[in-house]
Amino acid sequence: MSDVELVLRSTRVITPEGMRAASVAVAAGKITAVLGYSSAVPSGARLEDVGDDVLLPGLVDTHVHVNDPGRTEWEGFWTATRAAAAGGITTLVDMPLNSLPPTTTVDHLRVKQKTAADKAHVDVGFWGGALPGNTGDLRPLHEAGVFGFKAFLSPSGVDEFPHLGQDELARTMAEIASFDGLLIVHAEDPHHLAAAPQHGGPRYADFLASRPRDAEDTAIAQLIAQAKRLHARVHVLHLSSADALPLIAEARREGVRITVETCPHYLTLTAEEVPDGASEFKCCPPIRESANQDLLWQALADGTIDCVVTDHSPSTADLKTDDFATAWGGISGLQLSLAAVWTEARRRGHGLEDVVRWMSARTAGLAGLGHKGAIEAGRDADFAVLAPDAAFTVDPAALQHRNRVTAYAGRTLHGVVRATWLRGERVFDDGEFTEPKGRLLTRTP
Ligand SMILES: [Zn+2]
Repeated sequence: MSDVELVLRSTRVITPEGMRAASVAVAAGKITAVLGYSSAVPSGARLEDVGDDVLLPGLVDTHVHVNDPGRTEWEGFWTATRAAAAGGITTLVDMPLNSLPPTTTVDHLRVKQKTAADKAHVDVGFWGGALPGNTGDLRPLHEAGVFGFKAFLSPSGVDEFPHLGQDELARTMAEIASFDGLLIVHAEDPHHLAAAPQHGGPRYADFLASRPRDAEDTAIAQLIAQAKRLHARVHVLHLSSADALPLIAEARREGVRITVETCPHYLTLTAEEVPDGASEFKCCPPIRESANQDLLWQALADGTIDCVVTDHSPSTADLKTDDFATAWGGISGLQLSLAAVWTEARRRGHGLEDVVRWMSARTAGLAGLGHKGAIEAGRDADFAVLAPDAAFTVDPAALQHRNRVTAYAGRTLHGVVRATWLRGERVFDDGEFTEPKGRLLTRTP
């Protein structure tokens, strides 16, 4: 074991066993030990005492659309990873679509990795994409280190990333199951969407009616049926419809290998409060009613929903028009996700330990990142230093995102990220960033 170089000390360290006063020893970018609060600092080591601020494991956000290269005017690796660092996120996994090219072949993955390499302020990994017709690319992508494969069951919003029909889903899932890979799915059924009233225009109620819960519920039921038949590992992306929760819980009881995520916007914003024309609140599936939101929180508490990820999916402001039918569908929230979720979690009686479980431990587990997601010996020394009771009002101009359109503008949130550490180095400190120190991550077999 190398000599301890750094000790981080706090009266509140979130470890897998809970919150306690502790000193965390770091050497060569790794946590070597979690010691008693008053342990002697080894000679030659530097002490960083953060007082009563909470030391938590850096968050792992497995659902981010960076859009670089190709739609870099929407977001890019430089801006996205700075926003992540400012928000206490030390690892993000990039979605395969909205960049050009999409991450659907090994050559495309190499383009994305090359683009990200010198811009990453936090660690970055990649999901692959499953399209009709690229089944032969999936195993090579898996071997090249993507964390799994994203597929859509309804139109994705961009022409270069078509969705899978049910037969294609079965073929894709069988191929991925052949190497025990992970299939992550945007689950809305295209037939239910087509049958729903499509009025367009600025009324949020019309938009909500155009993306009904049963579109999600049906697609999830189909996904479960296929996963059960093929004994495949599947993950439901951005669950919004609480009506699907009993199906998921039942599938789990039957041994189906299914996990589920939801997003800060479903947990903190409600349909009732979306102003007409305010398409910064548009995403698919949509933000639903407050009664639905209560059930999502209950499912997080009882474990039916595993984790919380941002689904940060921005665009330029001109695509966020006041017509919900044609405006870009995606919510920008990377930098604010921890504060947004924590603000609502504390109001509902949850602790920061719960937030860490949902946004760091479980997401690291989803991607198989065994060296991330916890403050314990052997893990990467990735931390966020959080002042949990400090409040701030969201000023879009203060965000690091390339485009500052956000559904959270003007909200008062609790939880200020004072500093972020990546592998034992402070990469964000009170509004200041170092040069990029992030690494490109690949799936570890
Ligand atoms: Zn997404």
